[in-house]
Amino acid sequence: MTFRLGRIWGLPIEIDATWFIIFALVTWSLSAGYFPRLFPEQPATLNWLLGAVAALLLFASVLVHELAHSYVAMRNGLDIGGITLFLFGGVSKMTQEPGTPDLELKMAAAGPATSVLLGGLFWVIAQGLLAADAPVQIAAVAGYLAFINVILAVFNLVPGFPLDGGRVLRALLWRATGSLERATRYASYGGQGFGYLLMFLGFLWVLSGALVAGVWFIIIGWFLAGAAQSAYQQVIVRRALSGVPVERIMQRDVPRVACDTPLRDLVDEYFMRYDYSAYPVVEGEDLVGIVTVDDVREVPREEWAGTAVRQVVRPPDEHRLIDEKDDAWDALMQMAQLGARRLLVVHDGHLEGIVSRDSVLQVVRHKMQFEQGGDTPWQRSA
Ligand SMILES: [Zn+2]
Repeated sequence: MTFRLGRIWGLPIEIDATWFIIFALVTWSLSAGYFPRLFPEQPATLNWLLGAVAALLLFASVLVHELAHSYVAMRNGLDIGGITLFLFGGVSKMTQEPGTPDLELKMAAAGPATSVLLGGLFWVIAQGLLAADAPVQIAAVAGYLAFINVILAVFNLVPGFPLDGGRVLRALLWRATGSLERATRYASYGGQGFGYLLMFLGFLWVLSGALVAGVWFIIIGWFLAGAAQSAYQQVIVRRALSGVPVERIMQRDVPRVACDTPLRDLVDEYFMRYDYSAYPVVEGEDLVGIVTVDDVREVPREEWAGTAVRQVVRPPDEHRLIDEKDDAWDALMQMAQLGARRLLVVHDGHLEGIVSRDSVLQVVRHKMQFEQGGDTPWQRSA
């Protein structure tokens, strides 16, 4: 679940629900640990206030880091669907992969470079505040942000995909091997390995009594290992689906309604008979639009016999159509973005069929059964 914050450069900025948990944890660890150690005499409410302000500025820093990635991507003509801030950072939703290793390298490096700059900036602010005899608490917040931004850069530069360092590694391997798949596989092993290492260190810490630090490491490690695995799965799925045109997996015999059908017949012969709540409407073979139960309900029942579907049909939503020559991968991405389970397949304005998420995933499953080596993360999770 995500919450929309607003837009920057036209990009929707969202926060994931997990963000609130992390925000609370960061605020708590600052207010109950960091600030009381620095200012033992200070009232607890002030520590909580400083903790919350510092946590908010930390997330602003993460947002700036993500914006740096998106900026480089957009400058180079890549589509970015938006930015989602969650657990420890954020992701820029890329609807396409960078086309070349060099672009991937530039995009990946932009984030950590920005974090280092932010770290330097907060350090200068902290020093300036101290020199100007400003309240030392404010300088402490700036000092914390200087420190945490550098940590953020260092953490992100660990060579494990999908961290930025892993993307740098992937770009270098990609350039060396010429294969994006292989490069992603090895870079994601790096990410999984680093994730398990963090979890292991976290357990050691918990055993030695450092509960908070230990739990942090376990959460970060677990999250990273999972992200590395799913990033690799995505590459496998993409490889299985690329070059498979939608027309090869679509279902052709889709129930369709002719334009001049009276609503009375539409209800009796379609809505009462099949389990769909919407039907494509055609004129000859051309797709005219979609008719739904709700469209029919707006017409009084006694007028159903005298009203043709053409009078209530709505034009189709472009996003719910796909060309039969398009890749199955594109169909899957399109459905993922819409949260839809099926798309109408068209070609030259003709309705050709329907493609469902299940039939696309079926192709992946079949292809995986014929893969050499067999043991892929995809199969383990399937
Ligand atoms: Zn980054």
